[in-house]
Amino acid sequence: MTNDSPYDELEFASERDLGALQLERLRWSVGQAARSPHYGRVFAEHGLGPGSIQTLDDLQKFPLTAKRDLRDSYPFGVLAVPKEAIVRMHHSSGTTGMATAVFHTAGDIERWAGLVARCLHMAGLRRGDVFQNMMTYGLFTGGLGLHYGAEKLGAFVIPMGAGNSRRQIEFMHTFGTTAIHIIPSYAMALLGTFEAMGVDPRGLSLRLAVGGAEPYSEEARSRLQEAWGMPFYNCYGLSEMCGPGVAFECPEQQGLHLWEDAYLGEVIDPESGERVADGEMGELVLTSLTREAMPLIRYRTRDLTSFAADPCPCGRGHRRLARIQGRTDDMFIVRGVNIFPIQIERVLMSLPQVGRSYLVVIDREQYADRMTVQVELTPEAFAGDLEQLQSLRDRIADALRRETLVRPRVELVEAGHIPRQEGKAVRVVDKRDD
Ligand code: ADP
Ligand code: ZN
Repeated sequence: MTNDSPYDELEFASERDLGALQLERLRWSVGQAARSPHYGRVFAEHGLGPGSIQTLDDLQKFPLTAKRDLRDSYPFGVLAVPKEAIVRMHHSSGTTGMATAVFHTAGDIERWAGLVARCLHMAGLRRGDVFQNMMTYGLFTGGLGLHYGAEKLGAFVIPMGAGNSRRQIEFMHTFGTTAIHIIPSYAMALLGTFEAMGVDPRGLSLRLAVGGAEPYSEEARSRLQEAWGMPFYNCYGLSEMCGPGVAFECPEQQGLHLWEDAYLGEVIDPESGERVADGEMGELVLTSLTREAMPLIRYRTRDLTSFAADPCPCGRGHRRLARIQGRTDDMFIVRGVNIFPIQIERVLMSLPQVGRSYLVVIDREQYADRMTVQVELTPEAFAGDLEQLQSLRDRIADALRRETLVRPRVELVEAGHIPRQEGKAVRVVDKRDD
């Protein structure tokens, strides 16, 4: 297969060429990082520098970088260029309580846009497409990140931002939107607005969607694809590595190609810090290879995934990451059992009676943990008689117990009962510390 993308010649680079390029870029990136106060100090302490790298495996000599390191040196401790070279800043949303500032030079913005254009082109976006970007603009990277990439590709971009649901649908209709970028939980919620307006998304000109920024299950994706009548491509990124455009699905939709000419990936055991084998789940660690303003070496993303052990049928050599299961800190413990929200989602989204949203509430009852799962039902299921609802509730509780080992209390609620977020969905409310 050849690369027909005019945006980046590296998409189909051979393993050998990619390896040579990575080595050269890794040395550069380590040298660049050493200019920042944080890495300057850390590398000096360990006697490390670009000269420590003879092969790509030598990366393992370098200590891991934690989010805490960024916080401790906030705001400028990881900055590797003079402030005059910064043209833009983004800031993580602080979902887990620790926000980070991320800086970009003009070159960083240009390369980031190139990576995003490559992602979109791979998914089939072309000049002439009308791309409605329904992600929040501003400090969050989802808005401007995809905006620049789609413009670079030559698409007609509508910078909608999130929310204002009716207007989103009106614009899709008026301007003939063919592609959207949207948070998956919002894509689910918007289906309710389509219904209220009597519009079928499948009757519009839409032909592809890009969705990421939060974990979502394959079951949720299938539902979205069915209801919207188009493919939903999974898009992964984090502010610390520019934002979206780090890894993206090809039309095979079998995992996300990590752009290894720009990011070196490792999957480690979060406890021991050792690399795990391909196919084994662990924490993703990323090293930026081309970032000037804020290079990060062996950054712990806290995102749980694995590398695919086999090559992708599409022919791209860039290794694939499995769908992200969540962050290490999304995990909650109920009665001693570790649970990830995505496990709950998988079960719920595979049941046809279940509607579009759910919420896990954890509290204590007589000193013991109690997990309650609120489940929105479809209007048809919700209209059932009491007996039917009780039996459905028991079936959901049983299915959740099989998946998580904890039998939750299940509360069946009407569609629209659970508050909607325009940004990342909140799936768990833990009241135990209140
Ligand atoms: P914050 O860390 O404050 O949420 P970011 O906007 O940088 O700020 O969020 C990046 C995080 O979002 C990733 O580390 C990951 O946990 C999550 N994320 C992004 N894309 C995906 C995706 N496609 N699937 C699952 N999680 C994702
Ligand atoms: Zn592929």
